[in-house]
Amino acid sequence: MIGGEFFNEIMELGIEGKVAMVAAATRGIGLAAAQALAKEGALVSVCGLDAQRIEKAAALLGKPHRAYRCDLGSAGDIADWIAVTQRDLGAPSILVTNTGGPPAGRIGAMDAAQWQKGFENTVLNVVRLVNGLSPAMKKSGWGRIVHITSLVAKDPDPMVAISSTLRAGISAMSRLQARELGRDGITVNCLLPGHTETDRQTHLLELRAKERGTGLDEERRRAAEAVPVGRLARTEEIADVVAFLCSQRAGYVSGAQIVVDGGITGGLG
Ligand code: NAD
Repeated sequence: MIGGEFFNEIMELGIEGKVAMVAAATRGIGLAAAQALAKEGALVSVCGLDAQRIEKAAALLGKPHRAYRCDLGSAGDIADWIAVTQRDLGAPSILVTNTGGPPAGRIGAMDAAQWQKGFENTVLNVVRLVNGLSPAMKKSGWGRIVHITSLVAKDPDPMVAISSTLRAGISAMSRLQARELGRDGITVNCLLPGHTETDRQTHLLELRAKERGTGLDEERRRAAEAVPVGRLARTEEIADVVAFLCSQRAGYVSGAQIVVDGGITGGLG
């Protein structure tokens, strides 16, 4: 459906009743994305690792939404998460591939095991989720896929060498998926968040503080100062863009790298 009727309304996103899977979403950007989709009437299935957080996320989202345990580094867990979502909510037509983020550190400090883990948790899970869900989306003729990556896909950061490398790969993968799935009514985009107030951001600022011999508050102040809008992002500000990309309205946005970073990324590419 091209969705002509939606254009007569005030930014109606048109996703009420659609089943959405949001990976790594028991806190931070993923949880905010799940909440934004739920607010728009989607039936949301989130996953995470920690039992307490899963319970908390389920309570926060409320019924009919669901939260499950799924280790995104495990093929079996991903297959199970897809199956229970289909059983409990129906066939998913929206997929947001978020992750916990690969191990942080400089390129010379990263060993082969960290690269391997980074690949399995950051890239292979995206492949498995798209391969698991796209056949049903194709059949229904409608789908929205958003890969949450990072501004480092465009502007590599020495402090997160694995993330910078693998996220650039997901940008390429996303383009290929967009080309392959476009004629079946499925859009595929990457959302590249900038510095966003979450637990992971605090962890990265702590690493930076340790390296420079400063403190967390000082690093947070410096990080905010470096952003043209003068502050870090709130998770909701990333989530609203995710919700738009998952909407009927965004049917002509595909294969794109959408940077939501307060203007910090340099260059024009
Ligand atoms: P976060 O640490 O606040 O939340 C991470 C979520 O991932 C949690 O729900 C956790 O349970 C889940 N998770 C971790 N490992 C998992 C696994 N193996 N299986 C299933 N779930 C798992 O992180 P965040 O800051 O919200 O970041 C989300 C993503 O956005 C990350 O990939 C990160 O690299 C990226 N990102 C974050 C920022 C930032 O400033 N926060 C900036 C750019 C990109």
